[in-house]
Amino acid sequence: MFDYLIVGAGFAGSVLAERLASTLNKKVLLIDRRNHIGGNAYDCHDRAGLLIHKYGPHIFHTNSAEIFGYLSKFTEWRQYQHRVRACVDGRLVPIPINLDTINELYGLRLTPPEMKNYLASVAEPREKVLTSEDVVVGTVGRELYEKFFRGYTRKQWGLDPSELDAQVTARVPVRFNRDDRYFTDAYQAMPARGFTHLFENMLDHPNIKILLNAEYRDVMDEVSYGNLIFTGPIDEYFDYQFGPLPYRCLEFRHETHNKPVFQSAPVVNYPNEYAYTRVTEFKYLTGQDHPLTSVVYEYPQAEGDPYYPIPRPDNAALYKKYHQLAEQTPDVHFVGRLGTYRYYNMDQVVGQALAVFSRLAGVKRSEAFATA
Ligand code: FAD
Ligand code: UDP
Repeated sequence: MFDYLIVGAGFAGSVLAERLASTLNKKVLLIDRRNHIGGNAYDCHDRAGLLIHKYGPHIFHTNSAEIFGYLSKFTEWRQYQHRVRACVDGRLVPIPINLDTINELYGLRLTPPEMKNYLASVAEPREKVLTSEDVVVGTVGRELYEKFFRGYTRKQWGLDPSELDAQVTARVPVRFNRDDRYFTDAYQAMPARGFTHLFENMLDHPNIKILLNAEYRDVMDEVSYGNLIFTGPIDEYFDYQFGPLPYRCLEFRHETHNKPVFQSAPVVNYPNEYAYTRVTEFKYLTGQDHPLTSVVYEYPQAEGDPYYPIPRPDNAALYKKYHQLAEQTPDVHFVGRLGTYRYYNMDQVVGQALAVFSRLAGVKRSEAFATA
């Protein structure tokens, strides 16, 4: 008899398994339909011995000292500041758009105040910022929007930015200085021995039993358990009774090259050419010293595994119906990017899982982080 059956061994399921097992002494069965733990953050060594992220680049960043401290129980860190270049007009320029982006693209030597004036002259401020088009056109104007955002977004989401909530492109800010980091969070680091190693440490507890290659539907009647924590797609749990929630899918093309360096930046974005959105070279992320190098290309797709909830009003309305159903099902707790249909980063999923734990344990949120 297990106290909890947890479906999904990604960050949401693994954090809850760890907290329930180690602080409340609960017996947990953690299952995943995949053949590994870690969910989409899973990494592994490829045939060349390079550490790669199977499901695309995962870079850890957070402003929460608590979340960083909690994860630090399970890993050492390698300090890492992520940088991305966009291929625009045949040049590789910094994205987020910053002072150097504008100067390199237009052959100018603007100062930060001059850049501000320039963008103010081309921006088309919107009364209400509702869509992903509003955010960008309202800040940098139509030309830069078309060069950097429109094509990338249409490729990534299969939708025009005007059809997506503002939060999508608002993830990428504009900077009036030369800071070319992708993130400015207080904590930016990669697990020193990889994400999978972090998960292995997190789940190494006698109260946690892990079952891989295991479908929830096949397991649910085979084991006895008290409560269910479900971190898969919420619409799937409820048999799509209100219709399927839309997700954006990806195909990953992994390649190893017989040279030490493939490209000049960790990630290169291709907003306007090719069927792929971006190319990631893992050695930058992992710091691995190796004579070969491995990269991944991301090809967005309409069909396949659900990677991205699609933030737009009609999808939010559909999710709300499933959420209401979930509220009437008190023995089942829905958590994570798929379980709550939220475009969340890893740290947000960890924070959400810890918040759910504090509710289940009846402790204050600040106490949810405490070591057993
Ligand atoms: P998941 O990791 O998706 O785990 C859910 C698990 O549930 C899966 O392993 C799945 O197999 C399993 N499952 C589902 N249904 C069932 C079922 N019926 N039976 C059994 N098992 C089931 N975040 C960042 O912070 N930084 C980044 O750089 C970053 N880059 C990303 C890049 C890409 C391409 C993607 C797709 C995401 C990225 N993210 C990034 C987001 C990050 O992956 C998520 O926030 C996080 O991994 C979500 O964890 P989760 O546990 O909610 O879901
Ligand atoms: N985006 C874009 N051009 C870029 C980078 C991002 O148009 O060069 C938009 C695009 O819609 C993308 C969103 O901003 O989906 C968020 O970008 P982010 O890099 O955060 O995406 P993720 O890493 O989650 O795929």
